[in-house]
Amino acid sequence: MILTVTLNPSIDISYTISNLKLDTTNRTDKVSKTAGGKGINVTRVLHDLNKAVTATGFIGGNLGKAIVKDLNESGIQNDFLSIKGETRNCIAILHDNQQTEVLESGPTIADDEKLAFLNHFKALVSHANVITISGSLPNGLEDDYYAKLIQFANDSNKKIVLDTSKANLSSVLKSVQKPTVIKPNIEELSDLLGTEVSSDPDSLKSVLTNDLFSGIEWIVVSLGGDGAFAKHNNRFYKVNIPTIPVVNPVGSGDATVAGIASALEDKLDDIHLLKQAMTTGMLNAMESVTGHIATDHYDDLFNRVTVTEY
Ligand code: ADP
Repeated sequence: MILTVTLNPSIDISYTISNLKLDTTNRTDKVSKTAGGKGINVTRVLHDLNKAVTATGFIGGNLGKAIVKDLNESGIQNDFLSIKGETRNCIAILHDNQQTEVLESGPTIADDEKLAFLNHFKALVSHANVITISGSLPNGLEDDYYAKLIQFANDSNKKIVLDTSKANLSSVLKSVQKPTVIKPNIEELSDLLGTEVSSDPDSLKSVLTNDLFSGIEWIVVSLGGDGAFAKHNNRFYKVNIPTIPVVNPVGSGDATVAGIASALEDKLDDIHLLKQAMTTGMLNAMESVTGHIATDHYDDLFNRVTVTEY
């Protein structure tokens, strides 16, 4: 199975308000409340791909229970560690063709919970073939916490896909514990290197040879509607995708992570891994629901992705 890690999950609330007014009351009956967080999106897409998947992380309070209920109702296996703090809400208001978000920072993880999760994770790792780690660390955990998780996975020879950014990512890159795959987008890559990175393939080729990335087997730089540029060991690939009818691209990076994890578990070759990663990303962008894919058009899209060694 694939183990997905979401350390700071949320109940994602979406309100559609056609004409949002400030400093007064707004009412809406267009409300959706679902389990969310980047790793939960990865989990759902893996489930849509019919992969055996288990979701883990920290949950607390009634909102934590709501996450488990939502996953159970979708038939998705999960094994979270309960904490004293309360799982967060994240609110998106869709208004006037814009999306305004309010993201709670979430609970602070206590020292005993921090240690308890390491043991919890270690036990789950033994049943997994591939592990995905997504999103930022909750308050209370030091930047090297992901490196600790990666160490357990590496000790058991498991493949790891890490999708995080800023200090959480740079801390892992500086540590001796390396994930198998990272999947930055251009903004995350620019943040990491402290300079604006261009999506031009020649410049990406040079950027990805930076010493910061040594020891990382796969780097997949996702480029939204422009596909991806990737490095696997010493090989570089330019990945082109077809034009698709985009409905909601939020969560496409998470769907790409699911495609990569599934391909790693199935031991697909480079070309097939990249084609699958792009196909799951595109399928997510074609849906209104974040972190969900309909697989009817899978083969058609997959066959229209082209991968060339660069
Ligand atoms: P992130 O959500 O992490 O920023 P991207 O936006 O790069 O990730 O999306 C990941 C993948 O999803 C892309 O490589 C592509 O395959 C697909 N995708 C995302 N946005 C679009 C789009 N507008 N048109 C077509 N495919 C898209």
